[in-house]
Amino acid sequence: MAEERYISEITPRSDDFSQWYIDCLKRAEVIDYAPVKGCMVIRPYGYAIWERMRDMLDSRIKALGVKNAYFPIFIPESFLKKEAEHVEGFAPEVAWVTKGGDEVLEEPLALRPTSEAIICHMYSKWIQSYRDLPLLINQWANIIRWEKVTRPFLRTTEFLWQEGHTVHASYEEAEEFALSVLDMYAEFYEKDLGVPVIKGQKTEREKFPGALTTYAVEALMPDGRALQGGTTHNLGQHFARVFGIKYLNEEQEEVYAWQTSWGVSTRSVGAVIMTHGDDEGLILPPSIAPYQVVVVPIIFERTREETLKKAREITEILNRKGIRAHLDDRLEYKAGWKFSEWEMRGVPLRIEVGPRDIERGSLPVVRRHNREKEEVDIESIDKVVKKILKRIQAELYKRADHYLKGHIQFTEDYEEFKVLIDERAGLIMAGWCGDEECEEAVQEETKATVRVIPLEEVKWQAKKCIRCGRKAKRTVYYARAY
Ligand SMILES: [Zn+2]
Repeated sequence: MAEERYISEITPRSDDFSQWYIDCLKRAEVIDYAPVKGCMVIRPYGYAIWERMRDMLDSRIKALGVKNAYFPIFIPESFLKKEAEHVEGFAPEVAWVTKGGDEVLEEPLALRPTSEAIICHMYSKWIQSYRDLPLLINQWANIIRWEKVTRPFLRTTEFLWQEGHTVHASYEEAEEFALSVLDMYAEFYEKDLGVPVIKGQKTEREKFPGALTTYAVEALMPDGRALQGGTTHNLGQHFARVFGIKYLNEEQEEVYAWQTSWGVSTRSVGAVIMTHGDDEGLILPPSIAPYQVVVVPIIFERTREETLKKAREITEILNRKGIRAHLDDRLEYKAGWKFSEWEMRGVPLRIEVGPRDIERGSLPVVRRHNREKEEVDIESIDKVVKKILKRIQAELYKRADHYLKGHIQFTEDYEEFKVLIDERAGLIMAGWCGDEECEEAVQEETKATVRVIPLEEVKWQAKKCIRCGRKAKRTVYYARAY
């Protein structure tokens, strides 16, 4: 029976990237669609990936001196309405609770689309003196945004994230903190996930509703579309003023505080899967792979017991040395079937254990991302595997970075810009006069948006605005985005 269970095909990436992505997620049992529109179920294999990502990001957050806390999912309507820009920005996506049991609520409660309103309310009670600052809090939570068009991980009605909310004594401190979070996010993406990003500032039009400045890390997906990986906002004093977050400074004057907020969500799971996968399925970086190694015994009737024993032994050694190894000792499936199954699920490394390999004292070890095979002495298997995993992590980043660098183009000519956007998708550096009208017109005419204004000095500087031809104030990255 089992023999008949072949792995059904995954749509090739080049045929239909979106379908490839969905096929990968479903066949690898990362997610399933939920009965509620726009929602997904994160299955154990997918959740194990998220858990590892969450843990790595959580340690980075704590290293900044931030502590975790938890606030309620319900936000009273009146709280949400306090900051005008904020409520206007989120209004179309807010889900409301109007009834509790049979009782109609006096005031509708929003299911948090983000938590500034409730957290700022609490902060106004907790902060009185400059001695209470800085206040650095993060929460891991679920978020509800009533989205019209959804795609697993990238845009779902309910998603998981962390949101940091900090309060500072000055603009400079808040700004510095917001930027240190930007660096942290970039390191998380690049070092932990192997996904290269571009750091930059969002335009006024693209910034977070209610923020002074929004910064973001942007990644480039293999279909040439940009993906916003995380954002960090200098909120200025907007929220402090409407929620009354005031404190007595050292001169005993009452002043408003300065704030930041910042978040990375389960969207990052989508980014890592899109970035590294291939036509055979997922390719997971060793850092986040639920299983870093799968051990597959090659079973022959006569040597079955010895082979299984050795395979078990090797799996145990690896696990003892801190390598996440999984033994696939299911007898109802052939080795070849297991190879493709685990390749599809993105396990970075496969170790084959056959009777002849045991005799020789060395085992074939195969890397998922480039199919390279090498013989490794059983004696030194744990040390060598550790080294190979490290190398795979580095190679995945390098491969993705090569792609990113190869898909950044420059132009001063709008006609060429349109062709580039259509035919060679990716990031396009172009000039911008700084006017919102030009930004809007480019989006209407090409569906590309300003992803970020680079923070670091860029080598190529545009002379004129790509849309109107006036002098360029900034050289920015344009792209079509998720
Ligand atoms: Zn212009």
